[in-house]
Amino acid sequence: MSAKAANALRRKGARRRKARCPVCGRVAVTRFAPFCSLHCADVDLVRWFDGGYVVPGHEPAGRAPNDDDNDGAA
Ligand SMILES: [Zn+2]
Repeated sequence: MSAKAANALRRKGARRRKARCPVCGRVAVTRFAPFCSLHCADVDLVRWFDGGYVVPGHEPAGRAPNDDDNDGAA
């Protein structure tokens, strides 16, 4: 490999895309990664608490919607 090609490869690796804050889209800051600020980290946390984010997965199964009504009533 020529020195020129090696240099090009090194440069390509060094030029990493800057991570963007998933909340507002600004450039993320290492201290609050992957967010740009403490504010955006909090916004993301609140979204999780509010159920705005749902981890894709299986639905809770085994309980029919009306199961509570006849528990022990028979
Ligand atoms: Zn942000």
